Amino acid sequence: NLALKSPEPRPGILDIAAYVPGRERAPGVAKVHKLSSNETPLGASPRAIEAFQRTAFNLERYPDGQARVLKEAIAAVHGLNPANILCGNGSDELLGLLCHTYLGPGDEGIVTEHGFLVYKIQITAAGGTPVTVREADARVDVDAILAAVTERTKIVFIANPANPTGTYIPVDEVRRLHARLSAGVLLVLDAAYAEYVRRNDYEAGIELVSSNCNVVMTRTFSKIHGLAGLRIGWMYAPRQVVEAVDRVRGPFNLNAPAIAAGAAIRDQAFLAAAVEHNLVWLARVSEALTAIGLRITPSVTNFVLIHFPETGAKSAEEADAFLTGRGFILRAVSAYGFPNALRMTIGSQEANEGVIAALTEFMGRK
Ligand code: PMP
Repeated sequence: NLALKSPEPRPGILDIAAYVPGRERAPGVAKVHKLSSNETPLGASPRAIEAFQRTAFNLERYPDGQARVLKEAIAAVHGLNPANILCGNGSDELLGLLCHTYLGPGDEGIVTEHGFLVYKIQITAAGGTPVTVREADARVDVDAILAAVTERTKIVFIANPANPTGTYIPVDEVRRLHARLSAGVLLVLDAAYAEYVRRNDYEAGIELVSSNCNVVMTRTFSKIHGLAGLRIGWMYAPRQVVEAVDRVRGPFNLNAPAIAAGAAIRDQAFLAAAVEHNLVWLARVSEALTAIGLRITPSVTNFVLIHFPETGAKSAEEADAFLTGRGFILRAVSAYGFPNALRMTIGSQEANEGVIAALTEFMGRK
């Protein structure tokens, strides 16, 4: 009834800009390559699919509220204690649970200029205030974060590697950041893209979590594991953090098919092939796009940020329309502070070659 008014949401809720997922459709185009959500082109492991299918015969049962087999599989693969693991309905859910557990009205959460939007949304939803700090050269800037810390700071979020830039900061920088934060500030290392990184000076954060009480690392099955549709995330955290967040978590936050499929993480051959495919195509796409005059932010992930010329009729918006017309759906990233760039997920050979050809034409290089 439009004549009556619904109750007012809590202060701050209506300031939140709802998260807008990557587009899926290109109107009028039969064959679409969706390169807008950093999903893998290789699908899920056949073992995960089999495990998923088997759960169809027990759907009348609630899932295991502790997701035990999943935690055990994750713990075994990463050499961790299952008691330090908490699973979520995607890592998105865990990011929210962390905010709701550690933040309230009057508290501040630090995020970076081009950081993943869910941090800000969840800090605000928990009643806290997001404090945004600048980045240096599309990379997390540790000094800028440290300068923004106040006595009200409760949580600091960094994605390492970061989305949508694809950049990372070396483990020494993360250690330096942690060393200067007080024990009362929770440092969240979002390592959604960790598996793709092949650098000697990178660490997802396992070591830092193991040896401290105020560091948490979040991970996901949505990217390299190819299970975005099942929504599986996990965090590795100190016992006290796991036990606190567990009180806030919904009783059956992971569904049974997700728990079963996720436990197939032990299929390491599948992962190795996915890493290899990405390494080859990340390099080829980055080189080809640079060769046609586009600037690429050097990426260590499964996506690249493509910057379009500041002048002339070759804007990101025009490129987006041009690509969409040919069935290639990339991600506009103006909400992340890049009004003239598009983020492209590394896809199949066909998709990657198709985007390179289309952008070559768009840039008038053909
Ligand atoms: N963190 C980052 C940096 C991401 O890019 C994403 C995926 N968009 C997520 C977290 C959330 O992943 P999921 O909820 O699918 O685990």
